[in-house]
Amino acid sequence: MHFTGRTWRPPYESASFIIQATSGCTYNKCSFCSFYKDETFKMSPLTEFEEDLEELKHYQPNARRIFLTGANPFAMSYEKLKMMALTVRDYLIKCQTIAMFASIRDIRDKEVWQLKKLRAMGINGLTIGTESGDDETLALVNKGYTTVDILEQCRKLDEAGIEYYLVYMTGLAGHNGGQRNAINSAHLFSQINPYFISVDSLTLFPDTELFSRAQAGSFVPAGEKERIKELETFIENLQLRTHLFANSVSNYYPVTAYLPKERDRVISELQGIIDTVDEAVMDQYRTELKALG
Ligand code: SF4
Repeated sequence: MHFTGRTWRPPYESASFIIQATSGCTYNKCSFCSFYKDETFKMSPLTEFEEDLEELKHYQPNARRIFLTGANPFAMSYEKLKMMALTVRDYLIKCQTIAMFASIRDIRDKEVWQLKKLRAMGINGLTIGTESGDDETLALVNKGYTTVDILEQCRKLDEAGIEYYLVYMTGLAGHNGGQRNAINSAHLFSQINPYFISVDSLTLFPDTELFSRAQAGSFVPAGEKERIKELETFIENLQLRTHLFANSVSNYYPVTAYLPKERDRVISELQGIIDTVDEAVMDQYRTELKALG
């Protein structure tokens, strides 16, 4: 298999088969992220993609879901994605789903009719690292789009029937910003239809701009209890029937919930942590977090 770039898939894609379609990120400007800083965005040549499919077919002829690598393979043009989806079908006749990361920017240049066609060809299950649904926070970390963009582009996916998963990141708005971020994000996410929401918590790594700003004092990180309170507020304000997974390693206390059914249970669990665990113990956990994988 031609794995040349940094290869990462979300935990919930662990049963999918990974194929390199792209490497790197087309944007690389989010101030909290250094994940693909040393790579430039590249698309895999079709010949290499086909060789990998051939190999996958040999070992997993019944593969039903594959996951394309890179920070945002959905940045590829409609024609390119169509060609890749059709090529997958040539090799893996039972493959139902071609999932991948996508940015809000990548949806912008595609019409609804094109999205519908891609969906019909198996492209589905887009993980979108929105991180926030609050304009002040999006601007603070230089996400490069606004809440209006999120609303417009996700509504196109809803119309096309493409399933997508949104990411929310606690702590991203900094000290005293979490409540505003949680309320505005919950209101925004409630106007669209994410299949589920995945929650991470900001961890500052030394090679990021946000880390340097924290060192210089122009960004004050949120405390750990503050972040859990933010998550409570986010959950309280979500008016959506969806699953929420706040169980990645970046969350001090992992929780999952089916909302709204399990809202009260999960909020009281989180409140129990705020009431019983020392902030210093939580700080220590964050300090020792070396990687998010
Ligand atoms: S958060 Fe995603 S879009 Fe932003 S720089 Fe990192 S990989 Fe690229």
